[in-house]
Amino acid sequence: MRSNRQIFDFLINNIEVTLLIFSLILMLVFLSFYLFMQKLFTNRIQYISTMVKKASKDENSWLELELNYDDEITYLSKKINEMFKNINYQQSLRLQKERDFLQSVLDSQKSIIIISDGDIIHSKNKKFDDIFSSEDMFLTNLALLDNKTSENLLNIANNHYSLEKPAKFKCIGSDNKYFTFDVKKLDFKNYLICMHDVSEFNEKITELENRASMDELTNMYNKNTITSFIKLWLEKRDFCFILFDIDFFKKVNDTYGHPAGDYVLKEMSFVVSSELAKEDIIGRFGGEEFLVLINDYTNVNIINIANRLREKVQDHIFIFEDKQIDINISLGCTFCEKGEEYKEVYKRCDKALYEAKSTGRNKVIEFKK
Ligand code: GH3
Ligand code: MG
Ligand code: MG
Repeated sequence: MRSNRQIFDFLINNIEVTLLIFSLILMLVFLSFYLFMQKLFTNRIQYISTMVKKASKDENSWLELELNYDDEITYLSKKINEMFKNINYQQSLRLQKERDFLQSVLDSQKSIIIISDGDIIHSKNKKFDDIFSSEDMFLTNLALLDNKTSENLLNIANNHYSLEKPAKFKCIGSDNKYFTFDVKKLDFKNYLICMHDVSEFNEKITELENRASMDELTNMYNKNTITSFIKLWLEKRDFCFILFDIDFFKKVNDTYGHPAGDYVLKEMSFVVSSELAKEDIIGRFGGEEFLVLINDYTNVNIINIANRLREKVQDHIFIFEDKQIDINISLGCTFCEKGEEYKEVYKRCDKALYEAKSTGRNKVIEFKK
């Protein structure tokens, strides 16, 4: 009691100190109250406000507020979480609808459409699945096109953009298909790659090219093509060159008629080409004159080969409309060395043929360089 009395006296006597202590205690109380309020309300309200702002900006993120207390703000947070869920659900529905619409547009296209960064296929349309049974099948094709060095779709797409150089793919049903590519950059990484099926067009071009390179009647190479082959072979290697002509062919036409002559030309082409090796080449040089390139690097057999052809024609029985027609051929031949001029070798062979004709026909004459 005494000491309390003393403290009280001290406080009365030192009123400034008393006021200071009282003020300090009051300040401490206010500060504690402020910090308490801050933690309980202000921080949480700021957190909610930040999350709501984020939700309004970031469309794809699934946001959820933390629920730490059981109070009014937590109740509000729960409601906001429900709203977030609803918004996200609606957004994902809308996005899915947009995606489905885009996919249906892509699927309706006649061309194959791929979205890729060049290595990985991120998206593809229905046409892709119709043509290739799997992505693996497609990638195997790419590896073949790229000489098995890589599977980079962009390289291939950039190499095969024109109709002159379509890319050949093995597709479902083992048919080969030909495609040209269109590439468009979508963003910093991805590309829209369209593959146009040009198989039909390519087939027509090949057919036209074949037709232009072949002789219609005999189905052998025509003069243009066989001449190109001679020039090509002369650049690359030694070979044997035979020029032959049907003997007295005019008489065949005159005696049995033009259709009989046509038949003889066709049949004789067949007989001679059946005697040739796979690597040899035969072409019709004009009228009843033919040219044969023998893929033989040595000079040894040329006469034997030419004589074998002559005998085959001589022994073959040509029958047209029940009439047998005797056919013989005369042959000039020569050995060509790599690097010789086409005109030179042709002249040499033609002279040999002329010699065969002028010295009795149905024979082989060889002229050497
Ligand atoms: P030679 O032994 O000297 O070669 O005498 P040839 O009668 O065979 O030669 P010529 O050049 O006098 O006659 C060739 C004939 O070949 C004349 C031409 O009407 C005929 N001829 C050329 N092309 C064709 C064709 O596509 N069909 C037919 N039926 N005849 C053709
Ligand atoms: Mg003739
Ligand atoms: Mg002739």
